[in-house]
Amino acid sequence: MAVSYKPKLKNIKFQDLTDQIRFLSSEGKIWLGEQRMLLMAVSAMGAFRREMVNSMGIARAKGFFLRLGYQSGLKDAELARKLRPHCDEMDIFLAGPQLHALKGMVNVTPIQVDIDQETGDFYAEMEWIDSFEVEICQTELGQMDEPACWALLGYACAYTSSFMGREIIFRETSCRGCGDEKCIIVGKPAEQWDDAEEFARYFKADPIIEELYDLQSQVSSLRSSLEKQQGQYYGIGQSASYNKVCKMIDKAALGKVSVLLLGETGVGKEVIARSVHLRSERADRPFVAVNCAAIPPDLIESELFGVEKGAFTGANQSRPGRFERADKGTIFLDEVVELTPRAQASLLRVLQEGELERVGDNRTRSVNVRIITATNESLAEAVEAGKFRADLYYRLNVFPVQIPPLRERLEDLPLLTEHFLRKFEAEYNKHTLGLSDKALELCLRYRWPGNIRELENVIERGVILTDNNESISQDALFAVFRNSEFQQASPQPSEFIDDAGQVVSGDLQQEGSAHWAESIINNNISLDEVEETLMRRAMSQASQNVSEAARLLGLTRPALAYRLKKAGIPQKN
Ligand SMILES: [Zn+2]
Repeated sequence: MAVSYKPKLKNIKFQDLTDQIRFLSSEGKIWLGEQRMLLMAVSAMGAFRREMVNSMGIARAKGFFLRLGYQSGLKDAELARKLRPHCDEMDIFLAGPQLHALKGMVNVTPIQVDIDQETGDFYAEMEWIDSFEVEICQTELGQMDEPACWALLGYACAYTSSFMGREIIFRETSCRGCGDEKCIIVGKPAEQWDDAEEFARYFKADPIIEELYDLQSQVSSLRSSLEKQQGQYYGIGQSASYNKVCKMIDKAALGKVSVLLLGETGVGKEVIARSVHLRSERADRPFVAVNCAAIPPDLIESELFGVEKGAFTGANQSRPGRFERADKGTIFLDEVVELTPRAQASLLRVLQEGELERVGDNRTRSVNVRIITATNESLAEAVEAGKFRADLYYRLNVFPVQIPPLRERLEDLPLLTEHFLRKFEAEYNKHTLGLSDKALELCLRYRWPGNIRELENVIERGVILTDNNESISQDALFAVFRNSEFQQASPQPSEFIDDAGQVVSGDLQQEGSAHWAESIINNNISLDEVEETLMRRAMSQASQNVSEAARLLGLTRPALAYRLKKAGIPQKN
C-alpha cells in the first residue's frame, strides 16, 4: 500500500526507542538495543574531522564520514524492523529520523515522504535542523564550499536503502554548512539520479596506502632527477684510482651488460650506477634504485616483482613491482646479498629469460631491464656460505667494478669538499670561508670509514655550525673534540681522528715510529709478540671480522687467516 503524507515526527511515539537505551555505568557501557554506543563530545568529533580533512583532503574525508554514517544507518534499520514489526510502513520508516534525533545528531522535519514498499517507489524531502555537522563546520572548519552533513547523509542512504530493499540515494540540495539558509535533503532510488555512479564511489572504501605507494615512487623519481641536476659527483676527482673507475664505467655504459659495483659503504655506488644509466642509450628511460637491505624480507618479492590482488593479506590491489617500473631502463639493486632465495630465483629468471611473474599471479610478463647490483660484502663468500646462488652470482659478476674507499683517493678530498660546501651553503643559505687549514689537515689524516657519505655529513654539520663569513673549524666538523688542551701545547703532538669521529692525540705518525720501535727493542719484545699483539688488536677493532682486520693491517684475508691460525688466535667462521 502506498503511503504519502506529511508526517509530523512530534506526533509519533518515541517511547519504544528511548526504552532501548540503557546506561550501565558500573560496566562502563551504554546500550541502544543490542548496539553498544558511545557518548562522545561533538567538539572531539570536530577536532577529529578537522584532522581528517587536513591530512586526507576533503574528498577522502567526505567518503570516510559518509561510510561512518552508512554503517550506523544499517544498524538502525535492523533495530527499527525489530521494534515496530506490526506498525505501518511509515511508522517503521520514521524510526530512522527519530533515532537520528535521539542520538543528538540532527532534528529531522519531514516535508514530503512517499513510500511504496511493494512497487519500490520512494521519494522523500526533509529538512535537517541543527545538524551537528553544521555546528562542527562553524566551530572547527569554517564555511565549506559544498554541503557538509556527510555522516548524516550516509546514514539516510543506508537506512532507507535497507528499509526499501533497494538502493536509495539522498542528496543535500542545500546546506547551512556551505552558507545556505537550510539543510534540505532529497531521497530517490539510485537510478533516478544522473550522477548516482559518481556518488556511489564515496561508499567504496578506498585504501590510501595504494596512493601512498604511487606517491612514494613519484617522490623517488623526482628526487633522482633532482640529484641528476645537482648532487652528481661522478667526475669529481682526479686521482688515478678514481679515473680508472670512470674509464671502466664509460666502457660498461653502452650495451646491456650487468655491472656489479663493489666497495665499502658510502663510496657512492648509487651515483656510479646512475652514471652508468645516464651514459647508456637508456638514459631517458627510468632509473630505479632499490636498497634490498631496507625492505623486509617478506615484502621484497612483491616490491621487486609486483603483486596480484589477494596474493596475501594486505594486497588489496594489483601493483607492478620495481622491475616493471624500470622497464626499458635500469634497475640498481644495492645490498643485493640480502635478497631472499625466492627473490634470487626470480632475479635469475629476469636475467636469463627477461620475464617475471607477479606474486600470486601466473601470467608471465616480459621486461627489458638493465641490472646493476652492488654489495659491501663479498658475494663470493656469500656463495661459499650457501647464502647466495652461485648461478646468479656468475650472471651478476660479468662486469665487476671496484670503487676505491675515500682514504685511498684522499687527493680527491678537497674537490669533493668543495662540491659539498657549495651544496650545503646553498641549502642553508650561508656563505662560509671554507675549511680552516687545520680542519683540512685533519680531514686528510682521517680514515673515513663511512667514505664520501660520511664526508658529506661532516661538511653539512660544519656548514650548520659555522657563522656566515667564517672558516669552518675542526670543532665544527667533528663531533667530539678530546684533549682540547693539546692545541696550546708545544711542540705539537700529532692529533688524529679515530673511527668514531673523535679527535685523539698520539704519536703514531711517521716521526713517532723511531720512538716506539726503540721502546719495543729496549723491552725485549720479540717480533712474534709484536705480530700477535697487532693481530689481536686489529681483530678486536674489527669486531672479529677477518676481512676487515686484514684490511687494517694491509694484508689479504687469506694471509691474515693463515697467520692467525699459526699464532693460535681463534677466528670465527
Ligand atoms: Zn547540512
